[in-house]
Amino acid sequence: MTDCIFCKIANKEIQSNIVYEDHKVIAFKDLNPQSPVHILVIPKEHIESTNYINEDNSHLIGHIFVVINKLAKDLGIHQEGYRIVNNCGENGGQTVSHIHFHLLAGRQLLWPPG
Ligand code: AMP
Ligand code: ZN
Repeated sequence: MTDCIFCKIANKEIQSNIVYEDHKVIAFKDLNPQSPVHILVIPKEHIESTNYINEDNSHLIGHIFVVINKLAKDLGIHQEGYRIVNNCGENGGQTVSHIHFHLLAGRQLLWPPG
């Protein structure tokens, strides 16, 4: 997708603070962190939202969770805990139309969300 900001981050056309990368996914620090740890994990392939997950691309989603598991251990947040958030569509609060998973940690997170 030529006009997608997260595709541009994945292609290194836009600078970001990358914390993990492999051939399928990239993880980078959120520009506007909502907690001491706030990382976005995305597939390099453009998938618009959860609405577009299918049998052909779902392996990427499984892989993202393996990466989150590794990041949580590397960052030392796996024992105190963390939250994974995916916002889908307008009511879900999605502002960037390239599927992404927020990894939030470093403080007590509230529930329910607003
Ligand atoms: P969402 O509201 O779930 O679509 O989340 C989009 C997230 O992307 C927000 O938390 C933004 O702060 C973050 N964001 C937007 N642009 C950038 C960027 N260039 N680099 C890092 N994070 C970004
Ligand atoms: Zn994209």
